[in-house]
Amino acid sequence: MTTTMEAPAADRNKMTVSDTDVAIEIRDMNKWYGDFHVLRDIDLKVMRGERIVIAGPSGSGKSTLIRCINRLEEHQQGDIIVDGIELTSDIKRIDEVRREVGMVFQHFNLFPHLTVLQNLTLAPIWVRGTPKAEAEASAMKYLERVKIPEQANKFPGQLSGGQQQRVAIARSLCMNPKIMLFDEPTSALDPEMIKEVLDVMVQLAQDGMTMICVTHEMGFARQVANRVIFMDQGQIIEQNEPEAFFSNPQHERTKLFLSQIL
Ligand code: ADP
Ligand code: MG
Repeated sequence: MTTTMEAPAADRNKMTVSDTDVAIEIRDMNKWYGDFHVLRDIDLKVMRGERIVIAGPSGSGKSTLIRCINRLEEHQQGDIIVDGIELTSDIKRIDEVRREVGMVFQHFNLFPHLTVLQNLTLAPIWVRGTPKAEAEASAMKYLERVKIPEQANKFPGQLSGGQQQRVAIARSLCMNPKIMLFDEPTSALDPEMIKEVLDVMVQLAQDGMTMICVTHEMGFARQVANRVIFMDQGQIIEQNEPEAFFSNPQHERTKLFLSQIL
């Protein structure tokens, strides 16, 4: 039973071997939006290759937490260390962190006036300086991986929601991220499209990607997560491996939440 905020014992042992096994470490982190204390005393360590699912009621701070990890939001207290880079004091290296951390949002955020292929090659060409032909070859490889290479020359508006989300995932992968953050990637999709996106995420997990996924897809959590983290009112209330989390939740708020979504 792991209800503390530390990594499971096996991972703690690994820590003594090498700190380079740690992908993300958050220590005693607090964040406010003005007077509103949105994240409280967050401690979280994510090992390389670990797959974390974050669940919790709307407004509990899940999006804010993962947005702090690539500094789309700033925290006010505590440390966030991503791949050995501390986000507060190493502000100059934030671009380095952003390059290593891919993010997929609920509403795809594709550029509507660019083709699928152009969406995928934009950052590699303009941020990384990759030659166009090389960027396009790499983009096609990732479109194959998300199973929509035939959509390369269409515009996002010509694609279904599930296809657009797979483009968004492929676009992130084109930057070779070490860590992928997903913020409710299937919650804007029609039910019949959820599986095609989850299948891509399962594949990524099986390939060993370090992932943090905010999602209420509990089947996905059972299938791929090493740990499920439950948040409420800005705090990590409980965390455990999926089977124990679902079968034996410890806190009343977790039980209530699970009774509402399962
Ligand atoms: P979740 O993703 O779990 O639904 P969020 O992280 O989006 O939660 O939001 C947590 C709380 O912070 C909510 O009460 C929300 O209204 C508030 N909040 C989110 N973004 C902002 C913002 N930019 N300014 C002020 N309050 C915000
Ligand atoms: Mg959210």
